[in-house]
Amino acid sequence: HLFDLVRAHLPADPSGSTFIEAVTEGRRYSYADLLTRSGAYANALVGLGVRPGDRVAVQVEKSAEVIFLYLGAVRAGAIFLPLNTAYTGAEIAYFLGDAEPALFVCDPAREADLTAVAREAGVAQIRTLGGDGHGSMAEAADAAATDFADLARGPEDLAAILYTSGTTGRSKGAMLSHDNLVSNALTLAQYWHFTERDVLIHALPVFHTHGLFVATNIVLATGGTMLFLPRLDAKKILELMPRATAMMGVPTFYTRLLKEPGLTREAAAHMRLFVSGSAPLLAETHREWSERTGHAILERYGMTETNMNTSNPYEGARRAGTVGFPLPGVTLRVVEPETGAPLGPEEVGMIEVKGPNVFLGYWRMPEKTASEFKADGFFITGDLGKIDRDGYVHIVGRGKDLIITGGYNVYPKEIETEIDALPGVVESAVIGLAHPDFGEGVTAVVVAGENAPDEAGILAALEERLAKYKCPKRVLFADDLPRNAMGKVQKNVLRESHAGLYA
Ligand code: ATP
Ligand code: MG
Repeated sequence: HLFDLVRAHLPADPSGSTFIEAVTEGRRYSYADLLTRSGAYANALVGLGVRPGDRVAVQVEKSAEVIFLYLGAVRAGAIFLPLNTAYTGAEIAYFLGDAEPALFVCDPAREADLTAVAREAGVAQIRTLGGDGHGSMAEAADAAATDFADLARGPEDLAAILYTSGTTGRSKGAMLSHDNLVSNALTLAQYWHFTERDVLIHALPVFHTHGLFVATNIVLATGGTMLFLPRLDAKKILELMPRATAMMGVPTFYTRLLKEPGLTREAAAHMRLFVSGSAPLLAETHREWSERTGHAILERYGMTETNMNTSNPYEGARRAGTVGFPLPGVTLRVVEPETGAPLGPEEVGMIEVKGPNVFLGYWRMPEKTASEFKADGFFITGDLGKIDRDGYVHIVGRGKDLIITGGYNVYPKEIETEIDALPGVVESAVIGLAHPDFGEGVTAVVVAGENAPDEAGILAALEERLAKYKCPKRVLFADDLPRNAMGKVQKNVLRESHAGLYA
């Protein structure tokens, strides 16, 4: 049971130990608050008719209260189901129809709209919770008793359904068991040397695996402290560093912080660990960060479906451009996508994983679940990569982004790396667009800074370094790349907006 993990690692003095400090409000929540408040939410949920196995869907701004609601739901044997705060009413309608929750908790500011949506979807109970911690759900918890006897749950029972980020298509609900979450939290806490003394800067959203499970569950598994910021704010993060020990972020955190002149060795002197994940960290960012702060960013790789799969080492070389080694208990292999034949070191293929971290399947998508698992229990991640001779895993991109041009496979990451290395280039995305002769035409979208070469200049530089079939047919320029809340480049958006380029 996920909550047993919390109980087993409570600090010696729960009322004197801070679990969450909401930095903007200047409010602290102790581990004693965690116990009573999650108990109150559990009682309130039961009072609202939530039974074991029921889904509790929430679309609310980040606050300590949501975390207590998450834990309350888990204690009541329910399935916590957080939704991206950016989703519109129409998107919420889809998720509520798919998940059929017993209760939907939304932001008070959107209550009128979303109540109609939730009613339409047949949701029996609707409550509110604001980013300030107020709302009818919080009031229900205020009125409830704080003692709660956790409902027994087995390791295979679901603790959460988390929807994937929707980078490659419609989001899928990943069914995560108590054991999925507990095993990964314990593994990561140990691998990354977390203890009760850690103070984690938490500026990630809490509706995604990174902020909710990786960050929060590790702290719960060690009795440490989190400094909550509602969103990425580079200046505030810099202010917090002198009293923090660790930070977890998506690559955008690091590129934004690097733009702050205040980011220096001294500013980061109290920190022991910087973790990056959810999207590829440019090797360049890794190097700049080391130069500026003296810290090597620790990059790891995971998915909504699998929690974390690999990590660069805590001790030992953290290699830029790699995601490190499979975590203890996780088996990772690279196979030939069509035949499933295992590939050797340095050979690029489909990444497959197996372990206690891997989810139970996609919610109400039995065919999809069946097609993504191999007979021997390995999950097909959809990510292409390789294992190098030293055992480090490299992600070269998503299977869906692989470009097939004139019968040749082109891995966008290889081309992007070359383009990004050109002087003046900020970043790039390489996509395949329908092409009458080649099937797909390799196309680069480039964000150019000062003194970057023009299209002809980029093409000339690439022709010297890459086989002709890998070279882009066209180079387009953009002010920035479309990204979602987790900092992931939305290549499907780029493919759509430039669809007719070669028509
Ligand atoms: P969807 O599955 O709906 O298309 P998504 O895959 O982006 O969306 P998530 O589960 O949030 O949804 O993201 C997991 C993916 O993020 C991985 O499959 C991988 O492609 C990418 N990813 C995570 N960490 C890294 C990393 N360190 N380097 C490169 N890619 C990463
Ligand atoms: Mg995915």
